Amino acid sequence: MGVVVAMDGPSGAGKSSTSRAIAVRAGWNYLDTGALYRAVTWLALEKNLESAQDIILALKRDPIRFVSNPLDPQVFAGDTQITHAIRGSSVTENVSRISAMPEIRHELFDIQRSIIDRSEKGIVVEGRDIATVVAPDAALKIFLTADLDARAQRREIETLDKDVDVRSSLDSRDIADSTREASPFVMAADSVQIDSTLLSIEETIERIWELLRQRSLLGLPIVAILGRPNVGKSTLINRFIGRREAIVEDTPGVTRDRIQYECEWGGRRFIVMDTGGWEAKPDGISIQVSAGAEIAMDEADVLAFVVDAQVGALDEDEILVQRLRKAKKPLILIGNKVDGDREESEAHGLWSLGLGEPHFVSALHGRGSGDLLDRIVAELPEVGGAQTQDGYRKVALIGRPNVGKSSLLNALAGEKRSIVDEVAGTTRDPVDELIEFGGSTWRFIDTAGLKKRANQASGTDYYASLRTQSALERCEVAVVVLDASEPITEQDLRVITMVEEAGKAMVIVMNKWDLVDEDRRDQLDREVDRHLDQVEWAQRVNVAAKTGWHRDRLAPAIRTALDSWERRVPTAKLNSFLGALIGATPPPVRGGKQPKIYYATQAGIAPPKFVVFSSGWIEASYRRFIERRLREEFGFPGTPVQVAIRVKERD
Ligand code: C5P
Repeated sequence: MGVVVAMDGPSGAGKSSTSRAIAVRAGWNYLDTGALYRAVTWLALEKNLESAQDIILALKRDPIRFVSNPLDPQVFAGDTQITHAIRGSSVTENVSRISAMPEIRHELFDIQRSIIDRSEKGIVVEGRDIATVVAPDAALKIFLTADLDARAQRREIETLDKDVDVRSSLDSRDIADSTREASPFVMAADSVQIDSTLLSIEETIERIWELLRQRSLLGLPIVAILGRPNVGKSTLINRFIGRREAIVEDTPGVTRDRIQYECEWGGRRFIVMDTGGWEAKPDGISIQVSAGAEIAMDEADVLAFVVDAQVGALDEDEILVQRLRKAKKPLILIGNKVDGDREESEAHGLWSLGLGEPHFVSALHGRGSGDLLDRIVAELPEVGGAQTQDGYRKVALIGRPNVGKSSLLNALAGEKRSIVDEVAGTTRDPVDELIEFGGSTWRFIDTAGLKKRANQASGTDYYASLRTQSALERCEVAVVVLDASEPITEQDLRVITMVEEAGKAMVIVMNKWDLVDEDRRDQLDREVDRHLDQVEWAQRVNVAAKTGWHRDRLAPAIRTALDSWERRVPTAKLNSFLGALIGATPPPVRGGKQPKIYYATQAGIAPPKFVVFSSGWIEASYRRFIERRLREEFGFPGTPVQVAIRVKERD
């Protein structure tokens, strides 16, 4: 089973067009569960059946089938194609009644699950109860809504039968769907709500695509590094990943397996696959190695063939070269060990391989490696073959020693915790744990770092801070634990600043609340006022990890923080807000000149980044004012918000 995206929402919110477009773009399947309910309704009407039992019997004779190709989804009842018939008004009028029958829902549940389970790379499933019932483990859950008027207007355009009052039909269907007893239509706690009232379909798609990318749910492209043993593949990979990790040794054929490394260059993430060597006449262990290279060529999205430029291509490269010429994939020819201009001019013989322009590098010294990476990145497809994420939100539990981080972890996890194994050869840290609480499974980053170590008595600070830093880099939300029974310390504040600077969502846990008496409480209020006003936006949750008191407050706070962290404000809304703000409080005059503010745009999410374009320099205090008002207007509880000013000449 691949990635599952659940797309729930009322009729007319744009679920179908959005789901299909996402599925097409990602190369995934598509399932319209509403069409299944419509198909059953069609069958019931066609055969004049009333009771659930009779309908289910009819379903055994004429099973419903859905063709999950997003470019041309089709529905069949038995052998009859009913793709268009199910959109008629009699089906629409009756579908809510039929879909409220628990037996029918049960019957369709199995069909839906089997379609989802069969999808290899991924599937977008649209409906009403996908996130809550059919696929509660979906990697991304979207709840797409729009005002009733907007939805009615969209549907009216689509409806052929002009006599139908679309608005009231939609409205009564919404009410029936959300008040029924069998899986009523509700939003899941961990869904991302997108209101499409003011969004075009393209904007809605973009918004979801951004979330898929942000959560690494679109497979990362794979670059296979191929070549004879000892041409410097591992050194090159070390160059790419910026650290010494791939094994480098002088014995030919050291890298035996296909090992994958995650790389980032120019903002693009991808996987580099080390393939071991290649020999024309494999024998002994080399057979394996060659087979590894074969598999790598199949799995990879981009092929990089490395030749030792000082040696040139050898006869034994010939078989690989022939295979590469035939492979219908982007190919990059790399001449390694080129340290200077003289070697480069000698290395031009590599043109004769017929694999296009050779790129000369010195993996050892770095010469040419930036250009090469640029070239590789330019060849990467938007969606690649490596699935690196499971969709669990990534939480870092951090704080200075002795504030009760591991007791909190235990209080949250109870018995249910599992160490996450290394995922298929990627460089995932095996010290993460999957922990279930508050209705979701969460990936807790580097929980091994929470254990107290006897031998860490000295130098703790430095290493603890390094460890915190790397957990912060990988997480999406940081849960910062403070000891509420003791005064807030410098070290606490440093941890909080680290989160803010890393641009991650944050929840502050005031632990050991069981030890806080009235006096301490007053004191704490004053400390919070004094020290935490910089991060007023972070929610604070009072917890007693030892007794478990209030541990159920954490999941909702984490969700709210993540929700803000990934929120995008529609451009139109942003600019009408900004217009009103400037009108009421224009930016301060500087040197007799009033800088003009043209417009603003949200440049990114996770965390939200805004760019304001102006005619001149704007003071930092006014920038902070904009940030404060943005928060008041749109609310971003739990996330840092970045506002940048760009001075722009009038065009
Ligand atoms: O999405 P569409 O408007 O085609 O759905 C038709 C009807 O099917 C809905 O009004 C609802 O009653 C039912 N339905 C459902 N559960 C789903 C999908 C659709 O109950 N997952």
